[in-house]
Amino acid sequence: MTLTTNLGFPRIGPRRELKQALEAHWRGEMPATQLLDTARQLRARHWRLQREAGIDLPPSNDFSLYDQVLDTAFLFDAIPRRYRALVDAAPLAGYFAMARGLQRPGTDLHALEMTKWFDTNYHYLVPELEAGQDFALRGDAPVAQYLEARRLGIETRPVLIGPVTFLWLSKTVDGSDRFALLDRLVPAYAQLLEKLHAAGAGWVQVDEPALVLDLPEPVRDACRRAYAALAAGPRPKLMLASYFGALGDNLQLAASLPVDGLHLDLVRAPEQLEAALDALPPGRMLSLGLVDGRNVWRTRLDNALLLARYARNRVGADNLCLAPSCSLLHVPVDLEGEKALDADLKSWLSFARQKLGEVRVLADALEGRPGAEAALEDARLRFESRRTSARVHRPEVAQRLATISPALAQRGSPYPARRQAQQAALALPPYPTTTIGSFPQTRQVREARAKFKSGKLEGAAYEAFLEAQTEQCVRFQEQVGIDVLVHGEFERNDMVEYFGEQLDGFAFTRLGWVQSYGSRCVKPPIIFGDVVRPAPMTVRWSTFAQSLTARPMKGMLTGPVTVLQWSFVRDDQPRADTCRQIALALRDEVLDLEAAGIRVIQIDEPALREGLPLRRAHWDAYLEWAVECFRLCASGVDDATQIHTHMCYAEFNDIIQAVAAMDADVISIETSRSRMELLDAFARFRYPNQIGPGVYDIHSPRIPTTAEMVELLEKARKVLAPDQLWVNPDCGLKTRGWEETEVALRRMVEAAVVMRGSA
Ligand code: GLN
Ligand code: ZN
Repeated sequence: MTLTTNLGFPRIGPRRELKQALEAHWRGEMPATQLLDTARQLRARHWRLQREAGIDLPPSNDFSLYDQVLDTAFLFDAIPRRYRALVDAAPLAGYFAMARGLQRPGTDLHALEMTKWFDTNYHYLVPELEAGQDFALRGDAPVAQYLEARRLGIETRPVLIGPVTFLWLSKTVDGSDRFALLDRLVPAYAQLLEKLHAAGAGWVQVDEPALVLDLPEPVRDACRRAYAALAAGPRPKLMLASYFGALGDNLQLAASLPVDGLHLDLVRAPEQLEAALDALPPGRMLSLGLVDGRNVWRTRLDNALLLARYARNRVGADNLCLAPSCSLLHVPVDLEGEKALDADLKSWLSFARQKLGEVRVLADALEGRPGAEAALEDARLRFESRRTSARVHRPEVAQRLATISPALAQRGSPYPARRQAQQAALALPPYPTTTIGSFPQTRQVREARAKFKSGKLEGAAYEAFLEAQTEQCVRFQEQVGIDVLVHGEFERNDMVEYFGEQLDGFAFTRLGWVQSYGSRCVKPPIIFGDVVRPAPMTVRWSTFAQSLTARPMKGMLTGPVTVLQWSFVRDDQPRADTCRQIALALRDEVLDLEAAGIRVIQIDEPALREGLPLRRAHWDAYLEWAVECFRLCASGVDDATQIHTHMCYAEFNDIIQAVAAMDADVISIETSRSRMELLDAFARFRYPNQIGPGVYDIHSPRIPTTAEMVELLEKARKVLAPDQLWVNPDCGLKTRGWEETEVALRRMVEAAVVMRGSA
């Protein structure tokens, strides 16, 4: 019989119950016992829900109070020195302090660094290791959770992050080789496996998503060593889980490890099934990831069933598991809660709970159980309705996409000529000053928006409020002496949602929350159809702001790649095509802004880098269309209109060519924390256009001095030409307060004046 399994379930709860409990606990309003109780209730509920959805073997230990990588570090006692005393004295407080930092009189502990989990929008905490350190089993949380489920009558498969992926994702604080720690770490894993075995666990899922990456040979060696050692002891059966892509050149390695099963992501990489079937030794359990754990669409069950049947014929029903492609952490919990979504759209969607139902249907169909055929037919009808829907497919969009030519993505003149035209039009001083867009989103602003959305504040009153905020912001910038102003973005909730709400082809859920990190959740828009801009989106606010001042007002747009990257994207056409559609809609917005007298337009692309595929071999193809899309947005304007872009990170070495190919007249980047080091990439490349290297770290309440900012600018001037440089903060100011913003920006303008004087 074919087993249905799941790799992980969202832990935040259908109504973000975990978030509420965590935040109440952190505020000191909920004792730890009550928090742990909430967590236990959520786990019980999720296990039952998974069983009811038809999953034979749901996961345990996929739950976390903050992050599964932090849990793993904690479990194996990989506690950074600065946290040791606290963790030993008060483990739960220590755990949260590692995640969030701890500041109180006499103590200032910085949190572990946070970074993205593979190519998802989930962030994990980076474990800090050092040469020669020890690991030990600290407590037995995975065993306890396994037993917790068993007491409810539910047999589970505990999930562990595998030792290779764990080390891959960690960093050493002393620059030593983290894989040198493998032989110290593996015995702790072996000890845990022995305990799980003793507790009665039949299977353990060992997640090794690192196996879908380009791995250096020493890491592949480490993998062989680790699993040889783990296989030797008393242990449950091991299901080695790969996901987020093809095993590719690691397939032979994965197939040769002495484990009992292998999970494949057949949504991202269906083509690997054949090779995997050839590579796997007889008797090895094969787990097929057939339902997309990364997106919200219903599965084409007929297609998935073809793969499942093919695999069954090769390995036999008893050697087969069916599952989602990866943990369902990355999708919302339950579609049932969406009362406002229209029936069509709802019938095309599948959230975590529905996805498990799909896995069940596949298994039933494979076994020829009654009822399966009706479910397959239902899936066909849904698919047909989506495939033929006039809301999804709009001929005018397809026609327009077909007219894209290289010329459309090409500015009128090369940069040097544009530069002259822009200088003539804008007459900016050397080292021009600007900001990245948003100004403080005070409680007052957020409250007004909430009131407006809930109908407690009338449209006209809300507009008047926003106008007053915008005007204040303009006057503020004039007084501080900024050269290129912004309107402040007070009307925007979120830089993607704001645009998605105004474009056709986007839908929004009520409860479609997905964990981003810790208690933070995001509700990504769903791009379901061809993208059309029914009306201008930002012109009203940009022209209003421009009408208040003689200084240039910078229009502010979110770029196509960022909109794509932070949404659930349709799976019925290439991502590149969806991105091109967004790009064309934004191009129209750029042209409307220009026609309305806006002469500087910024197109933010903070997510360009995170869109990079996991494998290097796929980078060029991605960068090609990503750059093309930016250029499609930007290229319709006159030479004299200045196009800016913004990216809030610091690593440009490996993408500098693509960034240069975007050909923005000005790019602002985050450099203050790296002390301008990242400018080296631009300098080495002889980047020709203008750059605003951030001189003020807006992530911190700390206000830099004028001298510090001058020093940073001096450093920048050493590697770039003085007339290339702009002066601006690292990113938008939306999380800062007005007072600190005023001091910081006045000093920033002073720094620019100093630079002008010492040219
Ligand atoms: N214009 C946006 C802002 O200032 C940019 C935000 C970002 O780069 N993430 O808020
Ligand atoms: Zn930014």
